[in-house]
Amino acid sequence: ALHAAKLHKAYNNVEVLGAVNLHIQPGEVVSVIGPSGSGKTTLIRLLNGLEQIDNGEIQVNGQPFIQLSQQGSQKPRFIEHGEHRLNIGMVFQSFNLFPNLTVMDNLLLAPRYHRLAPLRELKHHACVLLQKVGMLEHATKYPHQLSGGQQQRVAIARAMMMRPQIMLFDEPTSALDPEKVNEVLQVIEALAQEGITMIIVTHEMNFAFKVSHRIVFMEKGRVVCDDSPDELRLGQYPRIKAFLKDVNF
Ligand code: ATP
Repeated sequence: ALHAAKLHKAYNNVEVLGAVNLHIQPGEVVSVIGPSGSGKTTLIRLLNGLEQIDNGEIQVNGQPFIQLSQQGSQKPRFIEHGEHRLNIGMVFQSFNLFPNLTVMDNLLLAPRYHRLAPLRELKHHACVLLQKVGMLEHATKYPHQLSGGQQQRVAIARAMMMRPQIMLFDEPTSALDPEKVNEVLQVIEALAQEGITMIIVTHEMNFAFKVSHRIVFMEKGRVVCDDSPDELRLGQYPRIKAFLKDVNF
């Protein structure tokens, strides 16, 4: 489970996140939606430890992940628990594959470095995951030989190699050509159906409403609403109704 409480983040004294709370139970699929600049990407980067929080607390399975020092010092103390960070798989908007490594070696790099298992087992696991994302036949290719959608599917398999307890997706389809979006969403949906815990920042409303147990709507650095798709569809949240209308959903 992942618990974030009262997260604050500012850039150059401008508040980007204010007192954000988020609780994710194992197996939950949660989408984070909201207007551009509302802090969705910042939130997910804080959860992954890619950015430092100014105030608040994040716990992964009851253990503090990143914690502010209690002394109220100017500089927050950044405690990073390596093993917790490894429990979190991250998929970025821009794929971020290593360009000089084949698909297979992209998958093997981190688990080999962390000596997760013998190489033979890691290769077997990599093949299973590549099969799952429909990329096994491309295992010996380099990223530049693949389409954006294919690269993103490899990036998803690569993140899964570390057997993360939770997967974070930061707008995984927004850098793709429109015709490549669905192949990536289908892969994410299949993972969701396997019961993998996920937080997905997305602008794909149909997808979010279809796969999520909960949808978190952010605006101006706050969580305005955190509820099930069915409840949101009922339209009792006027702000969300207006947002969904704006994005033609
Ligand atoms: P989008 O949907 O457009 O990706 P978002 O909801 O993910 O937006 P963020 O990327 O989290 O929003 O950005 C929230 C605010 O923080 C924006 O106003 C952005 O300009 C600002 N911001 C984000 N990162 C930085 C940074 N490194 N330095 C300064 N400002 C930043």
